[in-house]
Amino acid sequence: MRADVVVVGAGPAGAAAALALAGQARVVMVDRRAGPEDRIGESLPGAARRLLAALGMDPDAVLADGHEPVWARRSVWGAPQVAELDALADPHGPGVRLNRRRFEAGLRAEAVARGVQVIAPAHARVTRDGAGWTVDAGEVRIAAPVVVDAGGRGSRLLREHARRPAAQDRLVCAWTHLPLAGPAQGVTFVQSEPDGWWYSAPLPGGRRLLAFHTDADLLRASGVHRRLVERALALPALAAEMRDADAGRPGPVRVCAANGARPPAAGGRGWLAAGDASMCFDPLSSQGLFHGLYTGVAAGRAALAMLGGDDGAGEAYSAALGSVWDAYLAHRAMYYGMERRWPAAPFWRRRLAPDAVRAESAGPRAAAV
Ligand SMILES: Cc1cc2nc3c(=O)[nH]c(=O)nc-3n(C[C@H](O)[C@H](O)[C@H](O)COP(=O)(O)OP(=O)(O)OC[C@H]3O[C@@H](n4cnc5c(N)ncnc54)[C@H](O)[C@@H]3O)c2cc1C
Repeated sequence: MRADVVVVGAGPAGAAAALALAGQARVVMVDRRAGPEDRIGESLPGAARRLLAALGMDPDAVLADGHEPVWARRSVWGAPQVAELDALADPHGPGVRLNRRRFEAGLRAEAVARGVQVIAPAHARVTRDGAGWTVDAGEVRIAAPVVVDAGGRGSRLLREHARRPAAQDRLVCAWTHLPLAGPAQGVTFVQSEPDGWWYSAPLPGGRRLLAFHTDADLLRASGVHRRLVERALALPALAAEMRDADAGRPGPVRVCAANGARPPAAGGRGWLAAGDASMCFDPLSSQGLFHGLYTGVAAGRAALAMLGGDDGAGEAYSAALGSVWDAYLAHRAMYYGMERRWPAAPFWRRRLAPDAVRAESAGPRAAAV
């Protein structure tokens, strides 16, 4: 097969890149999963409406389709009192708690409707072929001048070109779902504690997400993931948020990597990385999905420039993302810096003293939990 652009990964970033290219180039999108699955990560800021509009979609229609508004955010952070931020203060309007599987399925279906060819399930591998690429996707071999890596935070697709991402720390997330026992408030909740921080929010579909973020070594030492709900209920403010859920019937607890990481480059000759493959963030930022859509749109435009003969488009795209990383680092330092109640606790010491983070970051990775 021949294509102009092969997009590897049909998550939010890959689907956005395919949509940005649809109708202007022959696009093939490959994903190793047959369809979207249940994933953690559902909070989309209101500003994402602009990106959906840039992809030619009706944001109100997309975000009304089985998703729910976030009317307020509550937190216990830096002080024992609960603070609340009303969505009225957001010029972009309320954020959205996505039914993640439905959101991704909608983007993928829209891409297909606009002529993007989807190959799934198929694990893609790429090799250089002259000035372009050969992409092996299961039974299919595709020749294309441009490849977009939208394979997510663990993508190995272009490792030899982008090289291994430098992990910022060893943050992991232990999470579970609880069934909702009654009507939920449209509020997301964050609470810090000596070993890390909690996040909880009701999800569309009658479930509540409960997630604890800490470092891999601290999780292993404390074993919090083995008594996640019990530990959450010991915090009065968090327990009050969880009143709408049946805490006696939690789902399985899963643990995933949640550290920020950035490869040395996000684009070069004939290739671009979008979404988490370009850089991924600590979930405290709630920035991953927005970044996935944003870089999908930007990578689509850069791919068109490459097809038009602009040999520097990959490097220019990569350089432009530098300011995103710098802003993320500044925000991350500001938010962790607001919590100074436990400066001696390893989790907070590592974040309040960047040198300590570097010295300690050579430890075992999340997969060892
Ligand atoms: C604990 C946690 C909580 C989070 N919470 C939030 C949140 O509330 N809000 C938010 O905005 N973000 C959140 N995020 C981040 C968000 O989930 C990610 O930023 C987002 O999923 C990135 O989208 P993506 O399309 O880049 O990658 P992904 O969603 O990971 O999609 C990558 C796709 O590529 C496919 N793939 C990979 N390699 C190959 C291959 N070789 N061949 C074929 N297919 C391949 C995979 O199957 C997958 O479908 C959270 C992340 C974590 C870890």
